[in-house]
Amino acid sequence: MIKNSFPLVLEWAKQITPRVRHLAFSREDQADLAFTPGQFITIHIDVDGKVLRRSYSIATIPGKSELIEIAAGRVEGGIATTLLYGLKPGEKITVTGPFGRLILRDEQPSRYVLVATGTGVTPYRSMMPMLAERLADQQLEVMVLLGVRNRDELLYADEFLSYAQQYPNFHFRAYYSRKLPEQAQDFEHQGYVQTSFADLNLEPSRDIVFLCGNPDMIDDAFTVLKDKGFDAKTVRREKYISSGF
Ligand SMILES: Cc1cc2nc3c(=O)[nH]c(=O)nc-3n(C[C@H](O)[C@H](O)[C@H](O)COP(=O)(O)OP(=O)(O)OC[C@H]3O[C@@H](n4cnc5c(N)ncnc54)[C@H](O)[C@@H]3O)c2cc1C
Repeated sequence: MIKNSFPLVLEWAKQITPRVRHLAFSREDQADLAFTPGQFITIHIDVDGKVLRRSYSIATIPGKSELIEIAAGRVEGGIATTLLYGLKPGEKITVTGPFGRLILRDEQPSRYVLVATGTGVTPYRSMMPMLAERLADQQLEVMVLLGVRNRDELLYADEFLSYAQQYPNFHFRAYYSRKLPEQAQDFEHQGYVQTSFADLNLEPSRDIVFLCGNPDMIDDAFTVLKDKGFDAKTVRREKYISSGF
C-alpha cells in the first residue's frame, strides 16, 4: 500500500478533443479532497510489480462539481494513457495528492497572465471561480493564453469565452502552432503561445505570469520573461514532464 494513497472511482469520461479525454472521479472513501485550484494528483500504476507515477492537474471547477476531474492528453503507447483511455465507469485508480504550488496566492498584481499549452490549461479552469471573485472585487486583469496545434485541439474554450463575456477584464486567446482557420475569430491567433508576449507590455512590477504544460514552451517563455526582469517570484511554472519509469 502506497503511503497516503486512496482509490478514485471513475464516474464518467468523455473525449473533449481528438487527443484529450476528460475524466471525472469520486473518492471511494467519500472523504473530501481539499485541494487548492492549480494543484495536481499523482496516479500510481502497477506495471509488473513496479509502481510508476504519473501526475495530472485537477480540472475540477469548485462549486460546479464535487468530482475530481482531470484532462488526459493521449501519448502514443503511454502507460498512463493506456490506463486512463481504457478505464470504464466503476473502475478504480490509486492516487496520492493533492500536490503543487501553481496556485493563486494572497497577492494583488495588476494582471495575471496565465499561459498554457494543451492540457496545461486545466489548472486555470479550476482557478476560474477564485479569479472571478478577484475580478469582481479588485482592480485586476486576467489573461488566459492557450497554445494548441489547431482549432480541433482547443479545450474548454467555450467556458473561457463565456467568462470573457461576463467579466470585461478577463481575456482569452488561443494560439495555433499550425494553420489559422479561415474566418478566424478575434480570440484566435497564429503561432506559438509565447508570441503573445510581444504585444502584452509585460512588466514584472505589475504582472504575475503562470506557465503550464509543454517543457519547451516553458523554457522558451521563461527566457523571454527573464530578459524583461521577471524572476521565480513573478513567474510560476509547472512542466508536464513524464515522470518516467
Ligand atoms: C505536475 C504534472 C502535471 C501534469 N498534468 C498533466 C495533465 O493535467 N494532463 C496531461 O495529459 N498530462 C499531464 N502531465 C503529464 C503526465 O503526467 C504524463 O507524463 C503524460 O500523460 C504521459 O504519460 P504516459 O504514461 O501516458 O506516457 P509515458 O509512458 O510516460 O510515455 C510514453 C512515451 O512517450 C513519451 N512522452 C511522454 N509524454 C509525452 C508528451 N507529452 N508528448 C510526446 N511524447 C511524450 C515518453 O518519453 C515515452 O517515450 C503532468 C505532468 C506533471 C509532472
